[in-house]
Amino acid sequence: MIPYSTQNISEEDLDAVRAVLLSGWLTQGPAVPRFEERFGTHHKVKHSVAVSSATAGLHLACLALDLGPGSIVWTTPNTFVASANCARYCGATVDFVDIDACSRNMSVSALERKLAAARVSGTLPDVVIPVDFAGFPCDLREIRSLADEYRFKIIEDASHAVGARYREQPVGAAYADLCVFSFHPVKIITTTEGGLVATQDATLAEKLRLLRSHGITRDPALMTQYEGDWYYEQLELGFNYRMNDISAALGCSQLDRLSVFHDRRCALAARYDDLLADLPLILPPRSSDRVSSHHLYVVEIDESRSSATRSAVFAQLRAMGIGVNVHYIPVHLQPYYRRMGFLPGAYPDAERYYARALSLPLYPALTESQQDEVVRALARTLAQ
Ligand SMILES: *Cc1c(COP(=O)(O)O)cnc(C)c1O
Repeated sequence: MIPYSTQNISEEDLDAVRAVLLSGWLTQGPAVPRFEERFGTHHKVKHSVAVSSATAGLHLACLALDLGPGSIVWTTPNTFVASANCARYCGATVDFVDIDACSRNMSVSALERKLAAARVSGTLPDVVIPVDFAGFPCDLREIRSLADEYRFKIIEDASHAVGARYREQPVGAAYADLCVFSFHPVKIITTTEGGLVATQDATLAEKLRLLRSHGITRDPALMTQYEGDWYYEQLELGFNYRMNDISAALGCSQLDRLSVFHDRRCALAARYDDLLADLPLILPPRSSDRVSSHHLYVVEIDESRSSATRSAVFAQLRAMGIGVNVHYIPVHLQPYYRRMGFLPGAYPDAERYYARALSLPLYPALTESQQDEVVRALARTLAQ
C-alpha cells in the first residue's frame, strides 16, 4: 500500500535520538530550548514553546487567552476535531464559520457576515481559530483586520503549515496572537508526538511555559515567598504538556531537512497538477501571495464532469493499493457536536467539499513512478 503520508527518518535522526538516550537527560532538558530556538529562527517568531502535541498546544493557547465557561470560540468545520475541542476543554462554546470553496479555508466573507450578525445579537467570539488547511495559509491579513475591528484574538492552527509562506513571511506569528504547529508523524516534520506554540508576545509565552509544566515556577521573582533551593510554587492549575528531549533532538535533526522536504513536496505537488490537469477533478488552490507546505494534496471529484462518486473512487483506489484518505469530515457533523445542536446543512460549502474530497499520497519519499501509479489508477477509476 502506498500510504497517503508517512514520516521520513534518516541516519542523522537515529544518531540524534541515540545521543539523547545516552546523555542522561530524557525529559525536558537541553534539547528542548535548542529546538525552540531553531524553530523560532526558521519561522521568524520571538517566542516558541514546545509541547507534547499540537492538541496540548491548542489547549494551552486557549488557556493563555483566558478562555473559560461563557467564552465563545469560532473555527472552521474543515479541520481535525482538535481545533474545536481545545475550546471545549476550557468550557467555552464552539461555533463554526463556513469555508471558502476555492481555498477550503475559513471564508473571510462568511466570517464578516457572522461577526456583523453576532454584534447585533451580543454573541461576538473571544477567539477565532483559522486553520491553514493542507498547508495553504489562510487569509490572515483580512482576519487580523476583522480581529482589530471586532476585538477577538486569533489562534492560528498551523498544524499543517510548517514551512509554508504567507505574504513573503514564513507562517508563524506575524498576524495571529498565537500560532500552533504539529509534529505528528504524518505532518511536515516529526518529533513522534509533539507540537509548538509560537507568539510574538512575551507575556503570553510566559503563561504558556507556566501552564505547560503544572503551573509550577522555580523563579523566586514570581513566588509569594522563598524557603530555599528546594522550593517551588504552583501558581496556576497547569498540565504536564512538556516535550521530551528525545522528541526535541529528533525535531532539530528533522529541521535540518525541512527545506529538502519542502522542495520535494512542492515538486511532487506541481507534478500532480500537471498529470491530473485533464481529469474531471478540482485541484488544490494556488495563489501568488502564499506558498503551501503541501502537507496534503486534496482533489475534489468534479460531479459536473464525472459520474464517479468519491466513495466508489476511494474504495477502488484502496483495493488497488493506493492509500488515499479523506480530510476532513466536517467537525460539526461529529456526534459530539451534533449533540450541541449542529445540523447537516449548517455549513454547505464544507459539506459539499467533504462529499467530493480525496487526499492523494504525498510525502518526500514518494517516487515519481509511485506517483504515476497513483495517477493511472485514479484516471482508470474516474473513467468507469
Ligand atoms: C494533526 C492536527 C492537530 C493535532 O495535532 P497533534 O499533534 O496530533 O495533537 C490539530 N489540528 C490539525 C488541523 C491537525 O491536522
